[in-house]
Amino acid sequence: MNEEGKIALTNFLNLAADCLRDGHLGFREDNELIASSPVSESPAPGPAAQEPKIPLAYLVEEEAGDELEEGFPDNPADSLEAVASDVAACNACGLATTRTHTVPGEGCNHPLVMVIGEGPGADEDAQGRPFVGRAGQLLDRMLASIGLFRNQNCYIANMVKCRPPGNRDPAPDEMRACFHFLERQILLLKPKVILCAGRVAAQNLLKTDEKLNSLRGDFTEIPIGETSVPALVTYHPSFLLRNESYKRPAWEDLKLLSSRLNSLDGG
Ligand code: SF4
Repeated sequence: MNEEGKIALTNFLNLAADCLRDGHLGFREDNELIASSPVSESPAPGPAAQEPKIPLAYLVEEEAGDELEEGFPDNPADSLEAVASDVAACNACGLATTRTHTVPGEGCNHPLVMVIGEGPGADEDAQGRPFVGRAGQLLDRMLASIGLFRNQNCYIANMVKCRPPGNRDPAPDEMRACFHFLERQILLLKPKVILCAGRVAAQNLLKTDEKLNSLRGDFTEIPIGETSVPALVTYHPSFLLRNESYKRPAWEDLKLLSSRLNSLDGG
């Protein structure tokens, strides 16, 4: 069994233990269980508490094929490397003056899921990689709980490719200036589903001012070029680190995502 298989098996066993005890998943930090929501919030045992199966297909990178490319225009002249190179040379907004490194994104070339957050933080700015701090580690564990891995079947990016100083939200003009990079990435990656991590990404990708809570719970088609990609909204892992009681609804989001991927798999 390879390393990712072992991680998936461990997560599945952890998940089963959590659900037997609490009725829902407790995301783990450094292999220790983070305090779960109060037992009184646990759902009653029954069909609603059943967990989605983890499709083994998610443990291997999906090959590019006709099905993946359906609806997406091909642009052989573009590439993820070209996007990263253009990002590195970009001075289109004020964030260029304060960044240490640009953070274009990372993951596999034809992901099942593209995770989109708001912008790089201090750790990401220092390393030039997305979601590498504590929030990134939590995101990896969340994804792994449903058989998703950033280098096998996911791609992780942000609305802006340079760090907003002081970890503030990216400004609307900064996101507008940067959006064409994200759009190119989506067209190249052809993800099955986009997972909007947090309010900023959700509101800007779905073009709405509605609160995050009201945007969760269903898929919304995001127009990209001449096609569209189904998007699901969930909490940003940084928020979940500060508000552990929201890990339970975040797990509901992950189950919904897993069910959607299962249905695609079955199709
Ligand atoms: Fe360019 Fe985007 Fe960085 Fe602004 S955030 S400088 S638009 S790459």
